[in-house]
Amino acid sequence: MKVKEWLNKELSNNEIKEHILHIKEKAKKLNKDYNFMITFNEEDPKDFQETKLKGLVVSVKDCFTTKNMRTTAGSKILEDYVPTFDATIVKRLKDSGAYILGKTAMDEFGFGSFSTNCAFKVPKNANDVNRVAGGSSGGAGVITQLLREEPHIAIAESTGGSISNPAAFNGVYSITPTYGLLSRYGLIDYANTLDKPGVMASSAYDLAFILNIIKGRDERDPTTHEYSLDFLKTITSFDAINSKIAIIKDYEERIIDEEIKKSFKKVIDFLIKEGAEIEEISLRLTDAALASYYIIATAEASTNLAKYCGMRYGKEGNVKGKHFDEYFSEIRSKYFGEEVKRRIILGSFVRMAGYRDAYYIKALKVRSKVIKEFKQHLQNYDFLLAPTMPILPPTFDEVGKLRPHEIYALDVLTVPVNLAGLPHVNVPLKTTLSLPAGLHVISDHFKDANAVAMAYWIEKHYKGIF
Ligand code: GLN
Repeated sequence: MKVKEWLNKELSNNEIKEHILHIKEKAKKLNKDYNFMITFNEEDPKDFQETKLKGLVVSVKDCFTTKNMRTTAGSKILEDYVPTFDATIVKRLKDSGAYILGKTAMDEFGFGSFSTNCAFKVPKNANDVNRVAGGSSGGAGVITQLLREEPHIAIAESTGGSISNPAAFNGVYSITPTYGLLSRYGLIDYANTLDKPGVMASSAYDLAFILNIIKGRDERDPTTHEYSLDFLKTITSFDAINSKIAIIKDYEERIIDEEIKKSFKKVIDFLIKEGAEIEEISLRLTDAALASYYIIATAEASTNLAKYCGMRYGKEGNVKGKHFDEYFSEIRSKYFGEEVKRRIILGSFVRMAGYRDAYYIKALKVRSKVIKEFKQHLQNYDFLLAPTMPILPPTFDEVGKLRPHEIYALDVLTVPVNLAGLPHVNVPLKTTLSLPAGLHVISDHFKDANAVAMAYWIEKHYKGIF
């Protein structure tokens, strides 16, 4: 159900509470098969009748702190961490009368593309339990698809594609906004210069609606901007179809699954038939962007993870008689997963004296060039369109056979826009199978509302929506 329909209903406090409890019960039942939630909120709903969101049910990725509700970031090391404060986004939602349903499953600290690196139960794709949910916000993608008949939205986070990927794999709408649109205060960092909170929903309208509530300057996060954007106004007034559009040749060349090529071609043909002018461009730095991302992201992650040493947050051990090195190593070896350790090693290596210039500094230079390349095209075009992922959601067996670098390579379409901090929206597309494909709508910095408007236009007019 769309948020708008929910808000238009005249409901008493009791009816709202009953509905929240009905959704919770339904979600708990579904969770037994799909594992999308790590922790459910066990607090009873309050009186919401007079609030703006009227008890709208919101699920939150488990990397955002929630006061008095366990927050694990998908890691064993934070298994027992109960924060004493709400992340800004959570606070803004609560203040507007949202009911937080619980904390959704994710790859440990956001490291992964399939949520198979979650230290708790691994979520399963909403359309086929033998397939992965996508990642790292896998739980958010699954619950958004499974609760599509209910008033529900999901808060997720992307560092290098973690919102678009599971949105595409489960067939839902999502936005990863311009870096700084949404506050990172209370977000458990993966890589600070890349992390972006975002939203998933079963309609582009709902993305716009929620962004109006949670966006904007937060004193506690100096990287946030004040936007004068009104998302709802833009999506109803912006002439999406008469804007200038480009498709990205280099991205199409990297599509592995024919089904995705077909779905993408169909939607592009439709847009042309409706009068859109579409040209083709090249992004030559695509592969360099992928390499540079994994250097910058792991470099930042390896320093961010230093604080998990068994003393300040999460798990503790027995310190007696141990040198601090020995104690820290013991805790970190025991409670960090394999991928976390891989990233610490990689990230520490690329910023070591002697290697820093060759890897980390070079990656930063590549990042500047990637931003420039995008910006040049975005002077000429309002939107860049591309498939979101190069593959349909793979089975758990298929993923089990992939080597780490092969998994990283599948992020080639989602990483560059994240590296550039550009807003991007996923639109779920039908394929000839029972699985969805994704269409990426990319726009310039601060043009987030236009990207949502384009997605909304397609949602309203195109028959091939998943
Ligand atoms: N798959 C990417 C990675 O593992 C992106 C993850 C994310 O955006 N959190 O780094």
